[in-house]
Amino acid sequence: MARYQDYPLSIYNSYNREKEIFTPLHEGHVGMYVCGPTVYSNVHLGNVRTFLTFDVLYRYLIHLGYKVRYVRNITDVGHLVDDVDEGEDKIAKKARLDNLEPMEVVQMYTNDFHNTLALFNFLSPSIEPTATGHIIEQIQMIEQILNNGFAYEVNGSVYFDVPKYQEAKGNYGQLSGRVLEDLISNTRELDGQDEKRSPLDFAIWKNADERHIMKWPSSWGIGFPGWHLECSAMSTKYLGKEFDIHGGGMDLKFPHHECEIAQSVAADGVAPVHYWMHSNMLTVNGQKMSKSLGNSFSPSELMTGNHHLLKKGYSPMTVRFFMLQSHYSSTLDFSNDALDAAEKGFRRLNNARKSLAKLSYLSGPMDEALNKEIQSSLNSAYLNLSDDLNTAKAIANLFDLATRINSMAGGKLKPGALSEGTFNRLKQEYEQIINDILGLRLEESDESGMMDGLMHLLIDIRQQARKNKDFATSDQIRDTLSALGVQLKDGPEGTSYSIE
Ligand code: AMP
Ligand code: ZN
Repeated sequence: MARYQDYPLSIYNSYNREKEIFTPLHEGHVGMYVCGPTVYSNVHLGNVRTFLTFDVLYRYLIHLGYKVRYVRNITDVGHLVDDVDEGEDKIAKKARLDNLEPMEVVQMYTNDFHNTLALFNFLSPSIEPTATGHIIEQIQMIEQILNNGFAYEVNGSVYFDVPKYQEAKGNYGQLSGRVLEDLISNTRELDGQDEKRSPLDFAIWKNADERHIMKWPSSWGIGFPGWHLECSAMSTKYLGKEFDIHGGGMDLKFPHHECEIAQSVAADGVAPVHYWMHSNMLTVNGQKMSKSLGNSFSPSELMTGNHHLLKKGYSPMTVRFFMLQSHYSSTLDFSNDALDAAEKGFRRLNNARKSLAKLSYLSGPMDEALNKEIQSSLNSAYLNLSDDLNTAKAIANLFDLATRINSMAGGKLKPGALSEGTFNRLKQEYEQIINDILGLRLEESDESGMMDGLMHLLIDIRQQARKNKDFATSDQIRDTLSALGVQLKDGPEGTSYSIE
């Protein structure tokens, strides 16, 4: 029996706004599509959070015994500045500003994306298609939409006819909860809007003028595909007209995902996605982390602590753990205090995990109640993961188990108190949940904990020396650390350090 039968998965389906039992289209197989990054700049920690949700889902589906095809695209054309139909392509703009080929920009930031995800221990998707690699499929889809009467051509551009679609299908706005009339009154007037019959319409093919560097021939003239179209074309190609799960950040619900649904229904007549999942935002002081607000930081800034929002550096696994301690559907606010707490918690978990690895079974008088408790905590961890991927509650179960493991390791509880079956299950599944499902590997530098401890010891000694007016010692500590690339920062809340 596959594990998914023991722990049936339920998913909060954003389309229906309720938690539903997950039943894949084809028993034992799952098709999952996640919108990937637009590769015109470095990824920030907010992006990492969204991709993390789906990395854990992918890992868990595999663990449950499903065969998963996970498609996560790379957007390398068509995403225009401000996410609207006018203005420059984000990648072309970056290429122009930096005097690079667009594909150099794409390669550079695709590499950055991959390196970052590797740092945070992400699994690679099964397929990572690019928009520029699927122009033919996108053109074919536009033809289908035109043939079915849901789009029109003006001056070499093709627009999706939202009012006509709505009249025929009636589901535009269902995913994002938007009402068409409100949308119309909120639309800004933009250049080129006169080409559209309605301000709600969106481009699925844009005519390229002289200035454009990324363009392809089509029967409507030279141009490029609209941003929303690539995901519809690539998900259909690799997962079929209908597939199981589509994910992305909450901010993509509208217009991107709403338009994806409309395009697929207009082309193929069926709703493409059975379960829509949206991960919530990483915020800083309540504001969405984003490049444009200037409140984002890169993974390397996070690790070195070299950023004005950071008190010190944190390891990638500490950050992964920090993010998994909250449910993916809640916003998660970044703060140094929360990360400090996560660092402590993660250390505790790792200590239990290392102690457990060293323990071996010894027979002895069995404690029935304790056996039950351990089995039930392990079951709960799985049940929580199956309950719409509640990593936060599963981690709480792991902490309950850590208390018992520590008692065993400390000799307060004899391993014999557990039956051999329970002991072996605990040993195997504890590591499996942490390592394989949550993707929290043991870091080489578990010394980072020790290093942190030593740094605080030095900071305390320097503080003491200053109090005693022993400036020779305090300066020696600061200067020696500085020569080693460690900077001390004195602030109102005490001294902190950062590593260059
Ligand atoms: P982009 O490259 O801007 O299309 O973003 C890539 C992914 O990161 C999308 O799924 C976004 O929803 C997601 N994202 C962007 N900012 C944040 C944030 N602050 N928190 C969580 N996810 C985000
Ligand atoms: Zn997409």
